[in-house]
Amino acid sequence: MELRIANLSKTYANGVKALDDVSLTVPQGMYGLLGQNGAGKSTLMRTIATLQDADSGSVTLGDIDVLKDKDEVRKRLGYLPQDFGVYPRISAADMLDHLALLKGVASAKDRKALVEAMLNKVNLFEVRKKALSSYSGGMRQRFGIAQALIGNPKLLIVDEPTAGLDPGERNRFYNLLAEVGESVIVILSTHIVEDVLELCSKMAIIHKGRVLYEGGPEAAVESLEGKIYSRKIAKAELKDYETNYKVISNKMVAGRPLIHVYSETALDGDFAAARPTLEDVFFSKIGELS
Ligand code: ADP
Repeated sequence: MELRIANLSKTYANGVKALDDVSLTVPQGMYGLLGQNGAGKSTLMRTIATLQDADSGSVTLGDIDVLKDKDEVRKRLGYLPQDFGVYPRISAADMLDHLALLKGVASAKDRKALVEAMLNKVNLFEVRKKALSSYSGGMRQRFGIAQALIGNPKLLIVDEPTAGLDPGERNRFYNLLAEVGESVIVILSTHIVEDVLELCSKMAIIHKGRVLYEGGPEAAVESLEGKIYSRKIAKAELKDYETNYKVISNKMVAGRPLIHVYSETALDGDFAAARPTLEDVFFSKIGELS
C-alpha cells in the first residue's frame, strides 16, 4: 500500500499559502518530511489525518480517497500530533484501555492483552500505573506512539515527535519508530535533520509550502559530492563572504563562524573541500528559494 499526494494546495483565510502544489509518493516504511518551522508540515499532516480540508488536489491511501472517505482513513490511521495536549492524572494503562474501548475492543480480557502488549512495545510496562501527568517528555512521546498504535494502523503520522527530547530519550524513540516502520507507512515530520538521517529511507524537503526535493537521503547527499567547501572566518567577514560566495550555512564553532559554501568549481586558498551532509542538502535547497 502507498500513500499518494497529488497537487495538494491550501491557502488559509489570512492569505498564507501553506501548501503549494504538493505531490509526494509515500511507500511503506519510514518517510521523513523535513522543513523549517512554518514550512507547511503540520498543515500537510493534518490534511492527511482528515482533520482539515485542502483547497485542491488529491490524497489516496491504497484505493481509498483520503479527502472523501474520511471514516475509512480513520480506521487505518494512527496520529501523534505535535501538541498532544493535556496529560491527565490517570494512568497509562487506564488511558490505553479506554482508547481500546473507543476503538471497539469490547472484551475486557482482549483489551487487557492488547494494552499490555502495547505497554511492552513502548517500554512503559513498568510504569503503567503511574499518572501520565508525571511522565517525562520521552515517556510521553512513547505513550503517544502506543495510543497511535492501538487501532493497528496502516498509516502512522508523527508530527515533530523528537522536539524537546534529550539524546537518550531521542535514541529510544528512534528505535521504537524504526521497529514500527517495518510494517506500516510512517510519516515523520521534523525540522531536525538527524531524525531523517537516522530513520528514513525516503524523504522530502518542504519549504514555504513547496516540495523542493523528494528521494533518498543518501542520493541527495551524493549529489553534492565535490561541491561543498568549508572555512573558518572572522565574524566581521561574514557579510563579504555572503556577497562573494554561495554561503549555504554558517555555524559557530568555538566562537567563530564556520561557513559552508556551495561551488560548482573548485575553491582554493583557505577553503577546505568538505564531505557533504544532509544538512548541506537541506540548506542548499531552501537557500535557492529564500
Ligand atoms: P510547520 O508545521 O512546518 O511549522 P504549518 O503547517 O504549521 O508549518 O504552517 C504553515 C504556514 O501556515 C505558516 O506560515 C503558519 O503560520 C500558517 N498557518 C498554520 N495554521 C494556520 C491557521 N490555522 N490559520 C492561518 N495560518 C496558519
